[in-house]
Amino acid sequence: MKEKKKESPFALLWSWAKEYHGGFYGSILLAVLGVAGSMTAYFSVAAMIRILLTGGGFQESINWCLLMLVGYVVKSLCSAASTAMSHRATFHTLKDLRKMLLEKLSRVPMGTIMDTPSGQYKTTIVDCVEGMEPTLAHLIPEMTSNMLVPIFIAVYIFCIDWRMGLASLVTTIIGLIAASQSAKNYSVKWDGAVAVGRKMANAIVEYIGGIQIVKAFSQSAGSYGRYADAVEENASYYKNWMQENQKFMCVIQTVTPSVLLAVLPVGLILWSQGSLSAADFTTVIVLSLGFTGPFLAAMSFVDELAIVGTNVGEIAGILNANELKRPEEQVIIKDQTIQMNQVSFTYGNQEEKVLFDVSLDIKPKTVTALVGPSGSGKSTIAKLIAGFWDVSSGSISLGGINIQKIPLDQLNQQIAYVSQDNYLFDRTVRDNIRMGRLDASDQEVEAVAKAAGCDAFIRALDQGYETICGSGGGHLSGGEKQRISIARAMLKNAPIVILDEATASVDPENEAVIQKAILALTKGKTLIVIAHHLSTVVDADCIVVVSKGKIVAQGTQKELLENCPLYARMWQAHIGTKDVM
Ligand code: ADP
Repeated sequence: MKEKKKESPFALLWSWAKEYHGGFYGSILLAVLGVAGSMTAYFSVAAMIRILLTGGGFQESINWCLLMLVGYVVKSLCSAASTAMSHRATFHTLKDLRKMLLEKLSRVPMGTIMDTPSGQYKTTIVDCVEGMEPTLAHLIPEMTSNMLVPIFIAVYIFCIDWRMGLASLVTTIIGLIAASQSAKNYSVKWDGAVAVGRKMANAIVEYIGGIQIVKAFSQSAGSYGRYADAVEENASYYKNWMQENQKFMCVIQTVTPSVLLAVLPVGLILWSQGSLSAADFTTVIVLSLGFTGPFLAAMSFVDELAIVGTNVGEIAGILNANELKRPEEQVIIKDQTIQMNQVSFTYGNQEEKVLFDVSLDIKPKTVTALVGPSGSGKSTIAKLIAGFWDVSSGSISLGGINIQKIPLDQLNQQIAYVSQDNYLFDRTVRDNIRMGRLDASDQEVEAVAKAAGCDAFIRALDQGYETICGSGGGHLSGGEKQRISIARAMLKNAPIVILDEATASVDPENEAVIQKAILALTKGKTLIVIAHHLSTVVDADCIVVVSKGKIVAQGTQKELLENCPLYARMWQAHIGTKDVM
């Protein structure tokens, strides 16, 4: 099969902006007219000096003055219109791009999203997309026009006298060499800058998220190592890079505009030898002065050129991420039997398998507890059943249908995944519970809150159900947040509940209330518990012992205590900790 040719960053960016190409072409045309208008001043001055030196008429000079005036007006109007047009097209493109990114996130595996630090998505969706603004709104029209005009003037000077043409290019060529040296490592350096920026964004997001703990342990920002180091690394990266780049920038900024350094001596020699007229000499002087302004303006976009690749790469990384391929058409799921058939699994970013030929039957309306040492693969099994990732080999079916043949939203309706991360949105308590089912009435919301044991404490809050939870649910205790998220899951009323039990121990009083809430949530449902404590598994219909990615035994508490030494050891250890507590 022929390998697909990798698209250049510009081609990709241009394809994302395809709906607005008309706007960009219009802005380029207007920008060219604008720069041409500004150049009429140099042509007019050159023409007038020529007239003065050759004894031309007053009226002719006035005409050049008028042309200069027209040039200024054209320049002002056209550049303003070009900027407005390119910005309109750019902001529409950026809006579409952000929409595309968010739509894409809804289709990539849930597991990929959970594995990616949220700071990384923020950097790409906010910063990298914003980073396209100078490229689209300025680079496209302004670089094009600023390059075209000096080329035109250079050709004109060559037509007057080719030797002067060469002389006028000397400092520009030196500038170009410096610019190419500066640009040589630019994209690599910029990649590095994005990496340190991302590290800093992740550290900041983590720091803000954990600020409670940082404060509780009286840690200042400076002593929160990862955050402080990331900020330091970011600052020194830029400092070193800019220092390295400074020498090239000095040459570009100082040598390039000094065109007269070559034009004057060469012109003087040619004039003194009689091979260059005074009129041509002065024309070339004036035109060459007008040459470098647009050229330097075009050079200022070299940075942008290098940045484009990185920003486009980051955005394309999300847009091209693997999607879970699922049909759109709803299927008929006859019951909630879950079957794992020789499932093996390797995480995308890893080489080693974490599950080996796991086969498991879960009957409807039963309680199945997954137990085993930490890292044995319990959560992975549960997340695969919830459809967060596709299995590497084998299959998982629900009601006899491979879950890969079930539309994502239908599978979602079947399964409520209650994790330890009880995230609450910065909205009212009522809205947070209603996330479980958006069309639920107020009465239904309050009924599940009662069942989950949260009605009383919600009513005791300042504004009752209308109290704002605070970002991440910060205004509520851990136990309260957990009960609200259980109420949310109850409202969803999915026939299968997967419960990732909290690893952190909750106080006994809270634990009893939460257990009651869980019982209410799971009544008459198929329940899969990832049990980090064994106290909750005693009554399970089936306890599945997972070790090193394999199922080593399954049965009831009694059966396992008799037949599974690993489980017996775990149970002894559990009893031991209970005794200590
Ligand atoms: P358990 O729930 O039994 O503690 P997990 O299913 O979380 O175990 O983890 C099983 C193995 O998979 C561990 O070695 C863990 O490090 C690895 N693992 C878990 N999640 C990921 C992930 N998102 N990416 C890569 N490896 C992972």
